[in-house]
Amino acid sequence: MSSYQVLARKYRPDNFDTLIGQDALVQTLTNAITLNRLAHSFVLTGVRGVGKTTTARIIAKGLNCIGPDGTSKASMHPCNQCEPCRTIQSGHHVDILEMDAASNTGIDDIREIIDSSVYRPVSARYKIYIIDEVHMLSKNAFNALLKTLEEPSESVKFIFATTEIRKVPLTILSRCQRFDLRRIPIDLLVTHLTNIAVTEQIKTQPEAVRLLAYAAEGSVRDSLSLLDQASALGANNVTLSIVENMLGHASTNALLDLLQSCLMGDIQMALSTLKKAVDAGAEPEQIISDLMDITHQASLIASNSNLEDISDSVQEKLSNIAKFGIPRLARCWQILLKGHQEIRLAPRPEASAQMLLIRLVYTSPMPTPSEIIEKLPKLSADKIQTNSLSSNKDQILSERTTSESENSANLEHRPLSSFKNLIDIVNVCEQQGSLILASDIRNYVRLINLKAPLIEISLTKGAPDDLPSRITQMLNANSKQQWEVYVGVNSNLPTLQEKDENARQEILSLASEHPVAKEVLKTFPGAKITDVVTSVQSQNHKSSSSSVKSDLKTSLEQLDARVPINEQEKI
Ligand SMILES: [Zn+2]
Repeated sequence: MSSYQVLARKYRPDNFDTLIGQDALVQTLTNAITLNRLAHSFVLTGVRGVGKTTTARIIAKGLNCIGPDGTSKASMHPCNQCEPCRTIQSGHHVDILEMDAASNTGIDDIREIIDSSVYRPVSARYKIYIIDEVHMLSKNAFNALLKTLEEPSESVKFIFATTEIRKVPLTILSRCQRFDLRRIPIDLLVTHLTNIAVTEQIKTQPEAVRLLAYAAEGSVRDSLSLLDQASALGANNVTLSIVENMLGHASTNALLDLLQSCLMGDIQMALSTLKKAVDAGAEPEQIISDLMDITHQASLIASNSNLEDISDSVQEKLSNIAKFGIPRLARCWQILLKGHQEIRLAPRPEASAQMLLIRLVYTSPMPTPSEIIEKLPKLSADKIQTNSLSSNKDQILSERTTSESENSANLEHRPLSSFKNLIDIVNVCEQQGSLILASDIRNYVRLINLKAPLIEISLTKGAPDDLPSRITQMLNANSKQQWEVYVGVNSNLPTLQEKDENARQEILSLASEHPVAKEVLKTFPGAKITDVVTSVQSQNHKSSSSSVKSDLKTSLEQLDARVPINEQEKI
């Protein structure tokens, strides 16, 4: 029994039918050879592992193939049986010279080629020089080569391969027929790997194969090497966890939970999941890149696209993330994308990843621009609707969820807060990172009465069912008392969000009267005042709506003071 042959070698294509993902190239070459318009020199370019040298060898064989009966003409379908085909395949043909320019960059190396190129081929139809990584040649070597390319001999062909076409002098390029080898699309790579796994009797999980294909970044060779490694590690059973471990990825489940935590606004959970993943050996940059993949997949689900090769458990978690909606996922993507670029340059990638997650958590609960726009005209309509519903919503709920023993354990460690109004509650939520709860209270809760440990509220339409119990839990955890939350009759009292919005409208109309604002509106026809940021607000985001008006006065005064400076800037 011969020794094991690695997959990348065993499945190296020996003709264009088995070369995957390069249909355009094959078509062009076939046409050129059929019309007898084959150039004297070619340059094959593309990222590593897409099959440049493989293609070069297939071309060399095709040009020299004589067919099993020795009478065939050159074609792009070498028979792989005739003498020339077999000797070229094994790398022993005297007329086919392969050279790696990466290790032979000098003029002397190229001179040998140039000198021998004037002689006719010994036995083949064409003498063929394959020069890999041609961009590595020295300037002198290129110049010497150029002379040969300018006066090509009928029976000589040059095939250059390069990963960096821009480094090849234009004088050379202009004398070559150029072929761009494409990166292999992920789906094609997945199919290819799956087929080979079946032939090789390697058991694979679809998600594992997909991850291998992703990791190979469009390179068939790399993907096969990875499949080799994974099947060795897993004793012919390639599971997702084996591939994840091998690639230094955090587990898909952990990453899904991580993204979910970020979108839910749970900073503590997000940071602890990140730490676990990093401790387990995952690279911070890789984690962020994986989070981007998940965001992308969730967005596809949110736009009703089908995802293939995904297990039910992953599908379910992705669907939960998809529920956050496309605008939020798109924003999440933007933040991750920017953060990913930063992490690559960061001296401490883990710290950088932590900061990125914090940014993600703190932007997640903010309404997206379209949500804000949607809410504005609806406010008054909502009020009318809730009022008319009030008669059949006369239910009183009392929620007591956290057990007393659980609470007393927590009480020791937490500073206690006194709650006098809704803003107190929201502030404590925000301090503790419970941003979703804070945002839900702002949006859905109308406070009817608050006298510790009783709080009576009513909820606006669309409030989450578990909101009262979450409020109870939060209040219990932050005070010595057992709170009772009553959900009462709908009231006309505004939510915090409505209060803010009313105040904002007042401020906007006030602001539009300011001379500077008037001037701006005149200068930019169609412009609208959409926001007023006071100096106090920008320092402290939690300023209450009632204080905004007085802030505005201060800031308008400051605005007055700033006007001359602005005018100076104009000059
Ligand atoms: Zn042949």
